[in-house]
Order: sequence, then C-alpha cells, then structure tokens
Amino acid sequence: MGGALAKLKRGPLAVTKDNVEDFMQQFDTIVSDCDGVVWTPLKGIPNAKEGLESLKAAGKKVLFVTNNSVLPPFKKFERIGYPVEQNEVVYPAIAIGRYLEKIGFKKKAFVMGVEHFKDQLRSRGVTVVPEKRTSELMEENLVAMLNAIQEDTEIGAVIVDLDVNVTFMDMVIATNHLRRPDCMFLVGATDTFVTFDEGKILLGPGHFIRTLEECSGRKAEQIGKPGAMMVSEYLKEIHDLDMSRTIFVGDSLVQDMGIANACGMKKLLVLSGMTQLKDLETCDPQLLPDYYIDSIGDFHTLLGQKGA
Ligand SMILES: [Mg+2]
Repeated sequence: MGGALAKLKRGPLAVTKDNVEDFMQQFDTIVSDCDGVVWTPLKGIPNAKEGLESLKAAGKKVLFVTNNSVLPPFKKFERIGYPVEQNEVVYPAIAIGRYLEKIGFKKKAFVMGVEHFKDQLRSRGVTVVPEKRTSELMEENLVAMLNAIQEDTEIGAVIVDLDVNVTFMDMVIATNHLRRPDCMFLVGATDTFVTFDEGKILLGPGHFIRTLEECSGRKAEQIGKPGAMMVSEYLKEIHDLDMSRTIFVGDSLVQDMGIANACGMKKLLVLSGMTQLKDLETCDPQLLPDYYIDSIGDFHTLLGQKGA
C-alpha cells in the first residue's frame, strides 16, 4: 500500500496500531460522511458499526454529515444497529431548511430535488414550487416552451439538489428565475459523479448546477459539502464544537477533504468508498488527507479492546 504513495513528498499517514494513540489524542469529535464510510448503497461496510462504537467508547463525540438528501439516513443507521439522534446527522435538505427559517424566508422556492428534500423544506414553512410534479410531456414546439415560463416575482430562491426526475424545462425555468438578482441560488449536493462498487457510475447534480451557473451567469451558494455550512452553521452551533479538535472522516477528496479544509478540521480518508490510494498522487495537494485508513471498521481492531 505504501508504494502507491511513494511519489508524494509528504504523504498522509496510515493510522496503525503504532500511532493510533497519538492519533486519538488529537481530537474530541469525529464528523463522518455516510455513503462510502458507514455503508455503500448496495451493501454494508464490514465492522462499520463496531468501529463507530469503539470511537464512541473511547470518549469521542461522533456526528454525521452526508450530501445525500434522497432518503433520510436514520433508518439505515437503525438497520446496522447504530441508532443516532436527529441532531447528530445533517444533510443539505436539513441545513437549507434551517437556513431559510433562520433568515426569515417568506417567499416561494423553485426546487429541483427529490420528494424527501422538498418535504424537509416544507416542514420549515417554505412554499415549494412546483407543488406537484407533472407527468405530462412538454409539447415539442418553441411557443409551448415560452408559454411554460411564467414570471413570478414571489419566487425568492432556486434550490437545486439531486433530482432523479429533472427535465429540460426545469433547467429552462430555473434559469429564467435566476435572471432576477434578488432570487437566491442555493445548492445542496454538488457531486458530479457518485461512484461505488459494482463498476457503475451515477451522475450527481453537479453537472446540472454548473449548467445553471453558466446559463444564468450566477454563482450558486453551496450549502452541501464541500461548502462549510452543514458543519460551521449546524453541527458546530448545536454541539458547540472546537474545530481544531475535530476530524472529518470521508471517502471523497473534493467533498469530504474539501469541507474539512473549509472548516479547519483535520482530515481522515477511508479507502472503503470512491477514492483509492493511487488517486492521491494526482489530486490537488490541498485535498490531501492528514491520515488514511482502509475502513472505519478498522477502529474496531485498533481500539476494540481498549474502547470496550
Ligand atoms: Mg461518501
């Protein structure tokens, strides 16, 4: 494994039984990503639950940040036998809803996202447009398209996250709302690709967001990782965290190592998800982790006896 990092002058350190004590002394809180760290969409990660339990038993606070607003992760945590409290987990739908509530947002929001994402916003008092998704196909002519664009100055935000049913007209309508400078442009997940095992690739909303930015000439405010907000204005406030004593655990360089940088946290990369050790040789040096480990489950072996 060391060979893959040979080209790096100053590479990240592997967490091993020789340095795990030093490693553990450096922080009080672990903020962890979910997909690729605690589970993958198709299967579990061996000993993830036990690894998390060992970290907790060693006196660390363990919190979770995911860019995945498609399904609330609470059920998955229950399924692996590691139940979590509501305020221990944050994802973009929660953070955006709380943010809009905090700034007293009273207008309507044009939302491209899954139903759970929209429901989270509604639960914070946001009027989501369109209210219901239409199953009708758009007429294939320009007049019909122009007629479908209705100006509505009551729309105060365009909010974009992963939307598995996104349409061409959604992009057109969002672009038109964004032409008004007073309409906010907030985005949750900005991942371009979501890769896991099984050799398949899913697209994230990143490409759509980039297109909207290009078409509208606007820059989106990034609420999801690698934006800082889910940690700096949610978990930090709720749990009174000291960022210099917090480490972020993730499997993605851009999103996970990126949010760690944005919030001043230390960085631990796990190799159980989308990043392999060889990817570190070509990545932006800013995104290099401080440490790496095969899997969060390894803490079970490294700390197991002491933590239990
Ligand atoms: Mg991940």
